[in-house]
Amino acid sequence: MKFKELGLSEDLLKAVTEAGYEEATPIQAETIPMVLAGQDVIGQAQTGTGKTAAFALPILEKIDKKNPNVQALVVSPTRELAIQTQEEIYKLGRTERANVQVVYGGADIRRQIKSLKNHPQVVVGTPGRLLDHIRRRTLKLDHVQMLVLDEADEMLNMGFLDDIEDIIKQLPEERQTMLFSATMPPEIKRVGVQFMQDPKHVKIKAKELTTDLIDQYYVRSRDFEKFDIMTRFFDVQDPDLTIVFTRTKRRVDEIANGLKARGYNAAGIHGDLTQKRRTQIMNEFRHGKLDILVATDVAARGIDINDVTHVYNYDIPQDPDSYVHRVGRTGRAGNHGVSMTFVTPNEMGYLREIEKLTRVRMLPLKPPSAEEAFVGQLGVAKEAVSDLISKTDTEKYGKAADALLEEYDAADIAAALLNEVTKDDSSQVPVKITPERPLPKRGGKRRGGGYHRGGGYHRGNNHRGGGEHRHYDRNRRGGSDRNEHRGGNRDRRRDNGGRRSEGSKHGFTIRKKD
Ligand code: ADP
Ligand code: MG
Repeated sequence: MKFKELGLSEDLLKAVTEAGYEEATPIQAETIPMVLAGQDVIGQAQTGTGKTAAFALPILEKIDKKNPNVQALVVSPTRELAIQTQEEIYKLGRTERANVQVVYGGADIRRQIKSLKNHPQVVVGTPGRLLDHIRRRTLKLDHVQMLVLDEADEMLNMGFLDDIEDIIKQLPEERQTMLFSATMPPEIKRVGVQFMQDPKHVKIKAKELTTDLIDQYYVRSRDFEKFDIMTRFFDVQDPDLTIVFTRTKRRVDEIANGLKARGYNAAGIHGDLTQKRRTQIMNEFRHGKLDILVATDVAARGIDINDVTHVYNYDIPQDPDSYVHRVGRTGRAGNHGVSMTFVTPNEMGYLREIEKLTRVRMLPLKPPSAEEAFVGQLGVAKEAVSDLISKTDTEKYGKAADALLEEYDAADIAAALLNEVTKDDSSQVPVKITPERPLPKRGGKRRGGGYHRGGGYHRGNNHRGGGEHRHYDRNRRGGSDRNEHRGGNRDRRRDNGGRRSEGSKHGFTIRKKD
């Protein structure tokens, strides 16, 4: 939809064009007219779909630039989001000369006090620092007409709720309230609507998940087995750029450390790290200096990287929208992606909820055996050897090489070399991940083990040979290439010159059910 049709002023339309936006995104098209009309709105849409402009544009339209009071307040869960949001609003409001300021913790408060004295009409901030300014009376909110809780799910989770309530107490009762978020779990919505009046919930379906390009698998396993299974999969699949999602910060640390102990190039990010460290890790990941990023959902917000090849859900997300959010990190920009979700027997109900939302069936995979992992490692080792050969000045070692060949069999020398470059069997390095409280059991009796066989939901879709554990289903497929059962493997990438959606040829593309 064109921005022109949304009821925005010429000035703002000009700013939109200058920002390079041609068409309004669905969340913008639906919510901008509502916010302009004064409606309370819950706006839910995937990350990266332009939610900021969805509230920024109507805010800029409605504020009175001649009025020196703070008229709109945007609360953001993190400092970097607050900064990004302030920049976006400032950019869109420049032609109108709107004054937009940002405040956040960990930065010089005096400078912020000064900037707040400049009479901003719009203030963006993180909860703690906003409260700080409120207490110091350097921020007065009694003229605020519009409140936005951005990333509302995060803002309203138990950790932030008290702060948010304290901030809202400072606002006039008569105001417009908006929640924007990628996910909106029912508990969170229940909390949020208490601050709102007759809100309209706009939910843009997450169908943008380009499932055609993502092979989605799940692995049934017990919690304590996950780590060993995951590293075996790494050895078999040899993923390029991988994100591992897990539920808690403790697990981020434990998994990242465990991966490092087993020789993988991994690091973890979560909210307890300093901003500097997070940015540093993100940059390493972005530039391929890091292969595996371990993250919580929150820490992964705003990760905008197109070449992620594999997403591992070490813990299945509680909320199906989070799944879409996570898995949407791969299969971007026409690249092929693979997602792997670990599911404990108790969590099958969650898997089903996800499949309902995405309308895509995940294929079950069996954990690779030690031998299969070894075969995978050998493949990597062979590549490493070719690499070594191409880098070696053969002339220089010619004589010594001849001498060796006289003494030993060439095959033995090659074997020794392979032995040297092959990564040790990862499972030899014991790693223990502390158990976390499991998700509450969800769903009725129809769930659990048997559901994949009988359920009407899975029947009649167009997957070929959809037996359980296709992984071992070699005969039916001619047994030509075992690796293909693992999706996105090294050989396929090499043969096809990249991560393309070549899967369908092999019957691996996950199709949308229609
Ligand atoms: P979200 O909050 O939904 O995650 P953002 O508001 O951060 O998304 O926007 C993501 C990116 O898309 C930003 O770089 C923003 O400038 C850009 N963007 C927003 N609206 C449009 C549009 N209508 N057309 C093109 N790009 C847009
Ligand atoms: Mg946003």
